[in-house]
Amino acid sequence: MTVKPGLVASVSLVLGLSALVSAQQSEHVDLNVLHRIKTAELGSGGRGGPPAKVMDTLWNLTDRYGPRLTNSSQFRAAGDWAVGQLKEWGLSNVALEKWSTAELPTGPIPGWQVTGYSGAMVEPSWMPIIGMPVAWTAGTNGPLTAVAVLAPIATAADFEKFKGKLKGKIVLTSAIPDLPLPVTAPASRYTPEQLNDMAAELIPVPARNLGAPATPVLTPAERREFAEKQRKFLIDEGALLTVQATARGETGLLFGGGASRTGDVTHNLPQVSITAENYTRIARLLQHEVPVQLSFDIKTEFTPNTESFNVVAEIPGAAKPQEVVMVGAHFDSWHYGTGATDNAAGSAVAMEVMRILKSLNLKMDRTVRLGLWSGEEEGLYGSAAYVKAHFADPAVMKPTAEHANLSGYFNIDNGTGRIRGVYLQGNEMMRPVFEQWFAALKDLTPGIITIRNTTGTDHLSFDAVGLPGFQFVQDPLDYDSRTHHSNMDVYDRVQAADLEQMAIVEAMFVYNAATRTDKLPRKELPAPTPPTPAATPAAAPK
Ligand SMILES: [Zn+2]
Repeated sequence: MTVKPGLVASVSLVLGLSALVSAQQSEHVDLNVLHRIKTAELGSGGRGGPPAKVMDTLWNLTDRYGPRLTNSSQFRAAGDWAVGQLKEWGLSNVALEKWSTAELPTGPIPGWQVTGYSGAMVEPSWMPIIGMPVAWTAGTNGPLTAVAVLAPIATAADFEKFKGKLKGKIVLTSAIPDLPLPVTAPASRYTPEQLNDMAAELIPVPARNLGAPATPVLTPAERREFAEKQRKFLIDEGALLTVQATARGETGLLFGGGASRTGDVTHNLPQVSITAENYTRIARLLQHEVPVQLSFDIKTEFTPNTESFNVVAEIPGAAKPQEVVMVGAHFDSWHYGTGATDNAAGSAVAMEVMRILKSLNLKMDRTVRLGLWSGEEEGLYGSAAYVKAHFADPAVMKPTAEHANLSGYFNIDNGTGRIRGVYLQGNEMMRPVFEQWFAALKDLTPGIITIRNTTGTDHLSFDAVGLPGFQFVQDPLDYDSRTHHSNMDVYDRVQAADLEQMAIVEAMFVYNAATRTDKLPRKELPAPTPPTPAATPAAAPK
């Protein structure tokens, strides 16, 4: 067999390169495995052929089984489907790991779904209302038509102002949104300058939270307390239904969350989130003292089962099976769209990482475990329950044997944008490790490393007990402007090429962590943090 001179040169180049990478930074990055992972992902479809495998998974989590509000019937159906799929891919120890929401400080999470919605202004003229019932609110028991009143309740003083004026009314409770001309493109990618600024930061500064006001007026706990007072006031005053809107929700978009779950949720007033342009027209008519009548017909269902689950699956390790690397994302979503960018995208990528690594039958020393969490939108509760059951209770901080054996956890929950880097979460020891891992991925990502903390999602549950938990820097695209917790969070808004890129990068990171000599360096064990009443995470969940 004659060996072509070019081939000798390229083989020695590849060998030279891998030797260089490992020698320089004591991180061995196997370029051959990287090539196989890329081929497995990019060869899995797309490019004019059948959809990429990751998009097939996403389709099932959205169009077929979305939305996935924690404990809703769709959420449970999506969980069963995921278990079937993971088993089909040959993964081990696939299960729905149960946890109970009964004792949550913000109230148990019942099953709840919308089974019918229509809304319209019927006086002074007819106008359809683009809207969606807020989670865990009651239906209208048939069509409900009533006079509308504008009663934005933002401060304690407003209770006095509207006392005695709301009985038998449909109440508009939000401030009137201001809708300036939308001159900025709804979607964007980070510029090199923006990425360099992030990389240049020396100490962790809290990342800007999606949806949280620039200068937060109330803490999450205070916001919850006020919402509770407002809820009670509206019920006591005899309001029939409330309507809300935000400035973010314009041009047919609407955004929303959930009503309070303390007390008997089936008594929650019907509550609807509507698009801003519908809200402002009604508000202006009322400000001009033109009588307005609205009509809604809402059907919602509560199911009492407050038990929830996290989806888990494994690829058992070879040499060190007791040591574990975890990859994951939250599986639950809000119900306004189909929970596509938040967070079927992260869940589909984490499942894809497992599919690729399993399909390539790669020898990995440590066990790789998938965690798809529930209860994230309500307060990171699924991942917190998992961490408490397996690793440590942050209230007492007594690490278990499993705590010692966990190397690290990788999370994706920032929409559909491709990976541009990673947040160190204050763990400076990880910088040289990530630098080496990213060095081999330069064709896919600039791989910026920022010391920043990023908040509001499930890696925090691991970080809270001193375990390395990381979230990636992702391109913002139209997450903040259009899809995050909106009615347009749907399959069409997910970018296939970005998801494929994320699957390759995250699969390589997980492989590196599962094969490197040592477990990932970790920060000091934090001091115990006794739970605060109605403990909610420091920032609004993402
Ligand atoms: Zn999320």
